[in-house]
Amino acid sequence: MVRLVLVLGDQLSPTLSALREADRSRDVVVMAEVADEASYVPHHPKKIAFLFAAMRKFAARLRGDGWTVAYTRLDDPENAGSIPGELLRRAEEHGAQEIIATEPGEWRLISALEEMPIPVHQFGDDRFLASHADFEAWAEGRKSLRMEYFYREMRRRTGLLMEGDKPAGGKWNFDHENRKPAPGGVDFSGPMSFAPDETVEEVLDLVARRFCNNFGRLRPFDFATDEGQARRQLAHWLKGGLAKFGDYQDAMLTDEPYLYHGLISFYMNAGLLDPMEVCRKVEQAWRDGDAPINAAEGFIRQIIGWREYMRGIYFLQGPGYTSRNALRHDRKLPWMYWGGETAMNCVGTTVANTRDHAYAHHIQRLMITGNFALIAQVDPAEVHEWYLAVYADAYEWVEAPNVIGMSQFADGGIVGSKPYVSSGSYIDRMSDYCKGCAYDVKAKTGEGACPFNLLYWHFLDRHRDRFEPNPRMAQMYRTWDRMEEGKRRTVLAEAEAFLGRMDRGEPV
Ligand SMILES: Cc1cc2nc3c(=O)[nH]c(=O)nc-3n(C[C@H](O)[C@H](O)[C@H](O)COP(=O)(O)OP(=O)(O)OC[C@H]3O[C@@H](n4cnc5c(N)ncnc54)[C@H](O)[C@@H]3O)c2cc1C
Ligand code: SF4
Repeated sequence: MVRLVLVLGDQLSPTLSALREADRSRDVVVMAEVADEASYVPHHPKKIAFLFAAMRKFAARLRGDGWTVAYTRLDDPENAGSIPGELLRRAEEHGAQEIIATEPGEWRLISALEEMPIPVHQFGDDRFLASHADFEAWAEGRKSLRMEYFYREMRRRTGLLMEGDKPAGGKWNFDHENRKPAPGGVDFSGPMSFAPDETVEEVLDLVARRFCNNFGRLRPFDFATDEGQARRQLAHWLKGGLAKFGDYQDAMLTDEPYLYHGLISFYMNAGLLDPMEVCRKVEQAWRDGDAPINAAEGFIRQIIGWREYMRGIYFLQGPGYTSRNALRHDRKLPWMYWGGETAMNCVGTTVANTRDHAYAHHIQRLMITGNFALIAQVDPAEVHEWYLAVYADAYEWVEAPNVIGMSQFADGGIVGSKPYVSSGSYIDRMSDYCKGCAYDVKAKTGEGACPFNLLYWHFLDRHRDRFEPNPRMAQMYRTWDRMEEGKRRTVLAEAEAFLGRMDRGEPV
């Protein structure tokens, strides 16, 4: 009896567990561009184009490898509009009574498959190092789930950067070397540019027609859309970017949206690159003397540490995680996140990068747009939806713990031991944004005072009961308390006035 093999848009790996379980001489692979997936949040047009183009190319590759593929394009008149709908339609067409799938990276789709009237066997997604059971076993009985300890276990398990049972270079973590401020210039050319071929052009036309009102620029479009191109991007970055990745990982520059970052999350998350292979190549570059240990360790930690840990948290916490709101923030996401006018150069630049590239690097996401949303006390569900929509690497398993947990502290401290908040001085130290800003980063109050300076204290003051007992935050409260009372009152009043203007839709 024929079975259907579901391959989702972020499962474009030839070694996918569902494909391994299937029989290519008999079973039918189902791939579908469906309206439900393309529009449950207003995805960036580049994200939709990347996934549709990569899906079409992967389907062609599977056919070349001897698979029968039932592929549905978005505009096909019979398109049922949803993954379950397409599975039912294809099951009827092929007389299939069983479906094989690799577990999706989102609770919403997992439940949709569980509720199908035809049995769906969901196999674990073993493109990740840690299975759900591994992560649960690690988390069991721990008072706090700090990433660092999980990461060490992953180092031991993979043998990456290990010398016997000791970490290479004598330390597990070289992060203190990785916080250098913005360099004067960047000697890496940034990501490779792949000219759209016929398949990509066809998809770009479709996306331009169907998603023209979504936030984000579709063209120029130069993403890699198959494994070969993604590997070329990786090789290009290993040669030109890795060596300084660690040093300038946290830096931000107006004219350098990429600095030394890898730009490979899109490809790893969709299945075009294998994370372990990426890590092995990074380790080899270090062993060959082409990259210092702080760069190699810093990068490998992001992947076998943070990336795996975030996924573990998402699945451990269950479907309700995205609606957590521990700090009870309820402000609407300001219009400037969707491209509305702002005089804040740091926010304006990060949003413009996001609009143009469906990308912003980690510190822009955490310390500019994330930090601002947190200290402006925006509803974390709105922040979550924005991040899920605007970044080409955003899937709930990785986006939600980064946003709800790390960035908005909405999970009450599962991911982070304290909120990532800062005044303008951190942004000034790590970037060149403040030089070109209408606000004055040195001004704490009064006309033109940097809004981060006002909102930072306003946030800490509102949440004093929760955060003052945290030893890592006690110093912040001591500084606040040392301020003269009149000045404290002015800061709070000006913060309220700023938020009032923002809530009324005035450009801020
Ligand atoms: C608020 C917020 C939201 C984020 N949303 C996403 C998201 O939707 N999808 C996503 O893949 N990453 C997300 N990240 C993590 C990180 O910002 C991106 O992985 C990174 O910017 C991707 O660009 P890059 O490939 O150039 O990364 P590099 O800076 O070159 O880092 C290398 C790789 O490490 C991994 N990585 C680094 N940090 C993290 C992290 N915190 N969590 C998971 N993986 C990490 C990524 O796979 C990345 O490709 C988010 C971070 C924050 C603070
Ligand atoms: S002065 Fe404040 S608002 Fe302007 S760029 Fe600097 S931190 Fe951002």
